[in-house]
Amino acid sequence: MEKIKLALVGIGKIARDQHLPALAANEDFDLIATASRNNSVDGIAAYKDVSELLSALPDLKAISLSTPPEGRFEQAMTAIRAGKDVMLEKPPAATVSEAEMLIAAARAHNVVLFATWHSREAAEIDAARAWLKDKAIKAVRIRWMEDIRQWHPGQDWILAPGGFGVFDPGINALSIATTILPEPLTVLSADMGVPSNRACPVTADIRMRSGDAEVDVKFNFLQTGTQTWDIEVDTDAGMLRLGMGGSILEIPGEAQKSAADEEYARLYRRFAELVRTRQIDVDLRPLHLVADSFMIANRTTLEPFEF
Ligand code: NAP
Repeated sequence: MEKIKLALVGIGKIARDQHLPALAANEDFDLIATASRNNSVDGIAAYKDVSELLSALPDLKAISLSTPPEGRFEQAMTAIRAGKDVMLEKPPAATVSEAEMLIAAARAHNVVLFATWHSREAAEIDAARAWLKDKAIKAVRIRWMEDIRQWHPGQDWILAPGGFGVFDPGINALSIATTILPEPLTVLSADMGVPSNRACPVTADIRMRSGDAEVDVKFNFLQTGTQTWDIEVDTDAGMLRLGMGGSILEIPGEAQKSAADEEYARLYRRFAELVRTRQIDVDLRPLHLVADSFMIANRTTLEPFEF
């Protein structure tokens, strides 16, 4: 089968760490170009932005956007209007309305739109969902606590308007929660800590409800020492623990399970399937939970933050 000609837009940390290796190992796609204002990839045709890409490469079939959420809407809209299939990094857009407009535009232009949630592809998520399916859930604890200086060095955009702050990693936890926990998952309250010189929170304590169970969520971007990306679920059959962002699973009576990280390999396999079968795959539930948290948040001003 002919390979899908693809361009990658926004050559930064996640493009280099994950997208490029996943594409290099993938049989379905042919990475023919990149678009990035300041960065490029050796040996691959480089353009500055999506419009340049589109004028130079009429044969291009698909575009994968690994830029920050603020500004990605215009890039995605330009690609969709030109009839290209589009894959979006998480979060799919800076606002819920933008994300909904992208879905409507993709339908109108008959193109594929894939809003990725890479953490849903972590090794043990499917097994966790399967185990929880017939259990009564009593309480849930989500702890996503990482050091912004270690994982996002110098990324000022992440604390600027539309950058999501600690919800940038936190939405990964919510993408897992919305796929393993019973519906409806709703936000009851949120307390956020926002540095006095930044627009977005670096800490968030959120109370949610999933079915009848309370979900206690703590996000922290200022965590030094041990880094934590854990979800614990108390059930009538004991506690399930997903550790390290969903790559480790502990369930009662069984040995701890873990497997190699294939998140982005799985995302590109899924995108290829969507391109071949002409489908839209956009689940906005994690974005809704972030929006709801921001809407009802009690905000505390913290010390100024510098990287
Ligand atoms: P990054 O290192 O800042 O890279 C993003 C790239 O996009 C930049 O290098 C920049 O390249 C380009 N860009 C275009 N418009 C931009 C703007 N207005 N501000 C800043 N950069 C802009 O960010 P990243 O960590 O790769 O994150 C990008 C997306 O991937 C985010 O949505 C994030 O949530 C997601 N993600 C990140 C990680 C992670 O661990 N870092 C993991 C999973 C997903 P040019 O200057 O060349 O245009």
